[in-house]
Amino acid sequence: MINIPKGTKDVLPSESYKWHYVENTARKIAELFNIKEIRTPTFEHTELFLRGVGDTTDIVNKEMYTFEDKGKRSITLKPEGTAGVARAFIENGLYGGAMPLKTYYITPVFRYERPQAGRLREHHQFGIEFYGSDSADIDAEVILTAYTLLTTLGLQVELNINSMGCKHCRAEYNKALKEFLADNISSMCDTCQERYVKNPLRILDCKEEGCKNLTKNAPKITDYLCDDCSAHFTNLQNCLKVVGLNYKINPYIVRGLDYYTKTVFEFTTNALGAQGTVCGGGRYDGLIEQIGGKSVPGVGFGMGLERVLMLMEAVNAPIPEDNGVTVYIASMGEKAYYKAFELAYALRIKGVSAETDHMNRSFKAQFKYADKIKAKYVIALGDNEIETGDIKIKRMVDGEETHIKLNEVLNFNF
Ligand code: ATP
Ligand code: MG
Repeated sequence: MINIPKGTKDVLPSESYKWHYVENTARKIAELFNIKEIRTPTFEHTELFLRGVGDTTDIVNKEMYTFEDKGKRSITLKPEGTAGVARAFIENGLYGGAMPLKTYYITPVFRYERPQAGRLREHHQFGIEFYGSDSADIDAEVILTAYTLLTTLGLQVELNINSMGCKHCRAEYNKALKEFLADNISSMCDTCQERYVKNPLRILDCKEEGCKNLTKNAPKITDYLCDDCSAHFTNLQNCLKVVGLNYKINPYIVRGLDYYTKTVFEFTTNALGAQGTVCGGGRYDGLIEQIGGKSVPGVGFGMGLERVLMLMEAVNAPIPEDNGVTVYIASMGEKAYYKAFELAYALRIKGVSAETDHMNRSFKAQFKYADKIKAKYVIALGDNEIETGDIKIKRMVDGEETHIKLNEVLNFNF
């Protein structure tokens, strides 16, 4: 027996309707916000993520699925959605089109993590990426897109925002943070000791209790913002206030990826225990340049769909049930068997979903099966029906029977 790889999941036929509901809702909300889908490959050159995600991040340091292909290229399975979209933006010369460019994706994401509830090695994200505008109102729109989707799905979430500033204010802040932590370097975890040298800000994102305690009263980046970043942050908040979206400022959100500038945000919930972040995002004005393009500002988010579904389950959010099949045609005897097969196909071609017996079952067992697949109507064909051409269509909700001619089934209004 070969088992499923650790940290991955099957979506079974009995539960795929839940995924369809979440994905279709995401597509609908994207349409309302005038966002178009972009599809990029599941794997990219490893170099893209080294440059685009950053080599001081957990993702790049510990979590990537990297391998050499038969052509001796280093390939990595997408560990997040943004870098691939940024590459596609540059490669397809999308600078020239109408700006801002508003795109969304639904994609599998691969991270070599320790599997737990809500933490998988293959998970799925709905994400959006807007390019070409550095105006704070578009950051607010990104946040609103996530909020609208989460609330449409029946979830209650809390919005936390922060500004990570730009190169200039961040340099000042990193200096202050290093001074603050200078006496405690040896009590930090190994990774954070490295971060202290390479990218001290990332220490704020450490999940180790010891490091979390050390940074409890750390200086706040919001106190170090330059005039431009500070105005941008105020403008973002004004936009959120205009639409009445409540938020909290959390000066310690720094997000897991290196490319963020200015706005960062997270939607959290306490219904999922430790894995409480369902959506995170922010602005990445330096990204396109960092991977070799002309400087273009960008902003977006990634939303973990497994976590969204877990959360919906935890709060009993309503999910419209699977429709079931419209017509089941039971048959007994050879002539009826061929007639049922023919009719089922003819109905399908007309756009009516239909099913018939493929197991050589008794009438009784076929009716049971029709019940199981939630057939709305059942037609039973035996020798008698074939001979006389008179049949009954039974509506299953109330048992009402309609008598019609066999050759008129296709005109029946199911
Ligand atoms: P975390 O702090 O939980 O590790 P992250 O900062 O690594 O999250 P992002 O890179 O921002 O997460 O990914 C966006 C979203 O994708 C997260 O908010 C979460 O909902 C989801 N996500 C991230 N990693 C996983 C995973 N291993 N399994 C399931 N969902 C995940
Ligand atoms: Mg992570």
